[in-house]
Amino acid sequence: MTMDPKQVLQIFKEQGALLEGHFRLTSGLHSDRYLQCALVLQNPKHAAALGDALAARMRKLGDLPDFVIAPALGGILVAHEVARALGVRGIFAERQEGILKLRRGFTIGPGERGYVVEDVVTTGGSTRETMEVVLQAGGIVVAAGSLIDRSGGRTDLGVPRFALAVLDVPIYSPEECPLCKSGSQAIKPGSR
Ligand SMILES: [Zn+2]
Repeated sequence: MTMDPKQVLQIFKEQGALLEGHFRLTSGLHSDRYLQCALVLQNPKHAAALGDALAARMRKLGDLPDFVIAPALGGILVAHEVARALGVRGIFAERQEGILKLRRGFTIGPGERGYVVEDVVTTGGSTRETMEVVLQAGGIVVAAGSLIDRSGGRTDLGVPRFALAVLDVPIYSPEECPLCKSGSQAIKPGSR
């Protein structure tokens, strides 16, 4: 099943997952918009449809991957749904003392090929770290995918990259943030 970017963003809007305000992102950068993907993915019907659509895009690359991997927590459901659509295993990496690692007995065999997926790509930092986990385990990263790319398509990960919708949302360092300068305080969404 395919979904065009408008349909994808419509789902996010309907679910109240596209927030406006003054936010501190996971990367530490500030922005006036935030995507709360959990509000979309809490509905299994949307999670499955988005996973199907991303899987359909990525598998056009050719052979099926051996696995799909995401960084915890935000990416877990995306990896699960994409893996389900492809019929391969879905795993995740999680932080231990700040370092992203494979835990829970997950393994990647030498030469195994994987897709790295996320819910939202902002700077590509978490995707890059997850790619590193795959490479260190001896695996191969075939492609990277996300439900939303909010970098305006500018993030280069060195592998083919897929997103169901691309947003161009400005991000600011806290020192340069115009919202901070106007006296408002950034909030970290999802922490409540
Ligand atoms: Zn700010």
